[in-house]
Amino acid sequence: MDVSTHIEAVQAEVRRRNPGEAEFHQAVTEVLSSLGPALVRHPEYVRGAVVDRLCEPERQVVFRVPWVDDEGAVRVNRGFRIEFNSALGPYKGGLRFHPSVNLGIVKFLGFEQIFKNALTGMGIGGGKGGSDFDPRGRSDAEVMRFCQSFMTELYRHIGERTDVPAGDIGVGGREIGYLFGQYKRLTNRFDAGVLTGKPVAWGGSHARTEATGYGAVFFAEEMLATRGASFDGRRVVVSGSGNVALYAIEKVHALGGRVVACSDSSGYVVDEDGIDVELLKEIKEVRRERLSVYAEARPTARFSARGTLYDVPCDVALPCATQNEIRREDAVALTKNGVLAVVEGANMPSTPEAVEVFREAGILFGPGKAANAGGVATSALEMQQNAARDRWTFDQTEARLAAVMRDVHAECRRTAEEYGGGADDYVLGANIAGFLRVADAMQAQGIV
Ligand code: NDP
Repeated sequence: MDVSTHIEAVQAEVRRRNPGEAEFHQAVTEVLSSLGPALVRHPEYVRGAVVDRLCEPERQVVFRVPWVDDEGAVRVNRGFRIEFNSALGPYKGGLRFHPSVNLGIVKFLGFEQIFKNALTGMGIGGGKGGSDFDPRGRSDAEVMRFCQSFMTELYRHIGERTDVPAGDIGVGGREIGYLFGQYKRLTNRFDAGVLTGKPVAWGGSHARTEATGYGAVFFAEEMLATRGASFDGRRVVVSGSGNVALYAIEKVHALGGRVVACSDSSGYVVDEDGIDVELLKEIKEVRRERLSVYAEARPTARFSARGTLYDVPCDVALPCATQNEIRREDAVALTKNGVLAVVEGANMPSTPEAVEVFREAGILFGPGKAANAGGVATSALEMQQNAARDRWTFDQTEARLAAVMRDVHAECRRTAEEYGGGADDYVLGANIAGFLRVADAMQAQGIV
């Protein structure tokens, strides 16, 4: 069977076996459409059905999460943990709490995670989990009871050498604290390495909170440098205003750029003076309010509930909210307004149609599985510190993060060039470089 027939057959089988899971199909297609040149060079991967095996999670856990709200009403949510691939190390990937979460979303995220984690060069496999629980508008006590119920099932599946969850959308320091507390109560063990994203005071790593946003900006900085450019004096838009977005904004400002727009699920703000990141953190992280409050507090800002921030002219766009947020028309607007680079802080924020627009226009495009790998890389650094009962300084950890991002960037370009895409083809480079590391390990470990 030739390589393209093989790839098409695997894709058809994924669609047949996972009906209705559109985002998972999209993620698989995105990766598999890059793998042709690697499979031509490595026919043993075709014989060993490496791609077929990669597309089937090693284990899928789906469970009921019952809890009681503040009015005494019983609520029922669904929990997921997809342990996708452990060829390179324990499953590693975040937990997402958002009403849109379903099996297909968790599988898409888990699949992406395999290649991202491989790209970091650190011994971690790929996994992802979450629930359709919506923490927004819930009291701390409700979030705590939900997390306790969620962990009451999850704890039997995780462990520092088995599966190490972390945060994602809707899961930050507060949720990780409640999850860890329940894990400890159930097991009678202070296994710091069972979850990452913990507060620094009890086992967390400095710079983990900042890592995904900072890392995406470091990656973008490397990309700009290939054009002799930098962030200095550049206009930037950042979608979202959560963990990844906040620290991307902070780092862009530190590098001399100006973030003029950001968003949440209620709309976006434009602030030509540059987003005041401390005010934004206070509103979104501490008070947990809507973004319109930012515009009420800043005379230079305006809030819009309609339209999209991608209409705001910028040199660099950093999508840091959620999947498929950049549609074709957004990509066209960015291109018309002269964007230089689009670098994904979120997972799969650009639709395939948008990526095609960027490709045709020759715009630098950094895919999430490479550009946002700084979060999981720093989680792996947290695991290292936990294992050694050590704690590094912020500067030490940030320097390690910056080095990982430089390496991931260089590896993408080197691999893209080697496999015929040209160094700027970060999609090809990221997919093939990640795949080869996992495929080699899978081949060496036999048919498992
Ligand atoms: P947060 O929950 O902290 O923030 C998410 C932000 O995106 C919020 O501002 C939220 O708005 C907005 N958002 C979420 N869903 C939508 C939507 N459907 N439409 C518009 N806006 C939306 O999550 P993170 O910052 O942690 O995650 C953001 C992205 O980065 C995700 O794709 C995640 O998978 C990815 N990522 C995160 C990593 C991490 O370390 N946290 C690591 C690697 C990738 P609102 O406040 O209104 O809900």
